[in-house]
Amino acid sequence: MVKIKTNESLAAMREAGRVVARALAAVRAEAAPGVRLDRLDEVARRVLGGAGAGSPFLDYHPDWAPVPFPAVVCVSVNDAVVHGIPDGSRLAAGDLVSVDCGATLDGWAGDSAVSFVVGRGRPEDERLISTAQDALAAGIGAAVVGNRIGDVAHAIGRVCRAAGYGIPDGFGGHGIGRTMHEDPGVPNEGRPGRGMKLRHGMVLAIEPMLIGGGTDEHYTARDGWTVRTSDGSRAAHVEHTVAITDEGPRVLTVP
Ligand code: MG
Ligand code: MG
Repeated sequence: MVKIKTNESLAAMREAGRVVARALAAVRAEAAPGVRLDRLDEVARRVLGGAGAGSPFLDYHPDWAPVPFPAVVCVSVNDAVVHGIPDGSRLAAGDLVSVDCGATLDGWAGDSAVSFVVGRGRPEDERLISTAQDALAAGIGAAVVGNRIGDVAHAIGRVCRAAGYGIPDGFGGHGIGRTMHEDPGVPNEGRPGRGMKLRHGMVLAIEPMLIGGGTDEHYTARDGWTVRTSDGSRAAHVEHTVAITDEGPRVLTVP
């Protein structure tokens, strides 16, 4: 069931989104060659803690996962698409890193992800990341009152496919509110004019995931969480929490 938010609730979600944006900015500033992935988690924890926010990621334990998620951020490096666990491994120059972060503040959740290269990027990685950002912008642009979920999905998928990238099936965005995952699902590919109609007060986490090698195929690593590309190519993942309003889409996960 889709939960429509009041304007007061949207304002509260904006504050949660601000905390997420601050945490991601801090993580990105910390990322450098030689830095351990679990250091990035520490940095995000400090921002959430300082803001009095909780983490919807920490100890999250869906049925399919063998263990609860142990961190407040997912850090997915190179061929990891999503759900990477920030462990003791170290970043290297040229790594393509996707960091996903959530926060819960005053009972409202925010969810956002960024992709970037550590140091100087290969042109193909820069293109993958900028296409992911374009796909996210297209999805946000379609998130307007009167459109349908399929319009958002189609807008995302079109940008990814036109650039020749793969889209991992079975993953996508979601409604968000009191909890991180609410109805409806927001696929990263779909048919325009289909699905639920968008209304003022709906809030969606829109999150394109792109596979650079062009395949849609992926697998879950032995840690039970990390999703990797089957062809070993690099992947990008970007996300914003977006409110649908009569005044147009409002991105909540910005500073
Ligand atoms: Mg996320
Ligand atoms: Mg999400």
